[in-house]
Amino acid sequence: MAEVAVREVNGLRFEERDLRGNVPDLAKGGEFSEIPLVRRIDPIFGTGVRFVSGAKIQPDSRADVTELTAPGGFCPFCPGSHEKYTFPFPSAMVPEGKISRNLALAVPNIIAYSTYSAVAVYDSTRHFVPMDEFNPGLLYDAFSAVMQHVRDVRRYDPRAAYSSINANYLPPSGSSLIHPHLQSSNDYVPLTAQSVLIERARRHRKEGRGRLLGDYVDAERDGARYIGRIGEVEFLAPFAPSGFREVWAVFGGAADLVDLSDEHVTAFADGLARVLAAYVEWNLGSFNFALTGGGPDAEALGLNPLFRIVARSNPEPWYRSDVTYFERLYGELMVDITPEETSAGLRERF
Ligand SMILES: [Zn+2]
Repeated sequence: MAEVAVREVNGLRFEERDLRGNVPDLAKGGEFSEIPLVRRIDPIFGTGVRFVSGAKIQPDSRADVTELTAPGGFCPFCPGSHEKYTFPFPSAMVPEGKISRNLALAVPNIIAYSTYSAVAVYDSTRHFVPMDEFNPGLLYDAFSAVMQHVRDVRRYDPRAAYSSINANYLPPSGSSLIHPHLQSSNDYVPLTAQSVLIERARRHRKEGRGRLLGDYVDAERDGARYIGRIGEVEFLAPFAPSGFREVWAVFGGAADLVDLSDEHVTAFADGLARVLAAYVEWNLGSFNFALTGGGPDAEALGLNPLFRIVARSNPEPWYRSDVTYFERLYGELMVDITPEETSAGLRERF
């Protein structure tokens, strides 16, 4: 077994080890040989990832979603429906009732998955937005609408201080509705990964360090996983991803979601549009994202809002889920693309 390679920077441990898989070599009549099987551990979340070689997990063609995304059937977010089937927030909670920003519309979520939640469509005038049509303006409007909900909720009930803005896009990502949307989640308690992030930041501070995510970006800025910066938002591929083609964005100059300025959202929307354009080029057709706030102590802990996006299996009949027992039951990603490859493909767009 190979030695562990550890790079320690700013109190962050970048750990990598080659587990060396023992497999028969087909070209040599089944003779056993060792092939690379690199495993890394994430310095922030502590999760493992193993990079397999010789697997063909990435799609080589784009999924045809024409039938899946065709209008028809009931959709609460389509024109003619959202006026009737979505409801305003109570005015004490959200003064606007329903939050409109150009084509984007944020309304209460019918399903109670958080104490205070909202669902926002990027475009309330059409049932489907293909991935190659997520331009910065569309993303800016949708994020602005959901951000408004988060700020309003925080004013209405300051105890609901654990906020995040998240999305599923098409069924392989878990989305139950085709009409593209994003959601806000505001709770009295953190989501699991949110609490891991917060506790990790607390430990970082106890060790006399600075800002956890700022230190992480500093450690990576000159390396092969750094993608680029737009305004105060820095994009990079994480050392040990938790999903396919994962990209992170760290928002400088803000601690929690409610601190994000218009400039932050503009810069971020620009960057996210570039990431999604690369996803299209890589024939990817489904994704999840999470923009996570640091809770009530975000400023004291030196946290920054963290955005993460991962590609999911393509929406096609009999698709293979990208979540195997490794991911679902062990919290460990098995992937055939490295963050260095993801970053290399994205850097030219930044
Ligand atoms: Zn619709």
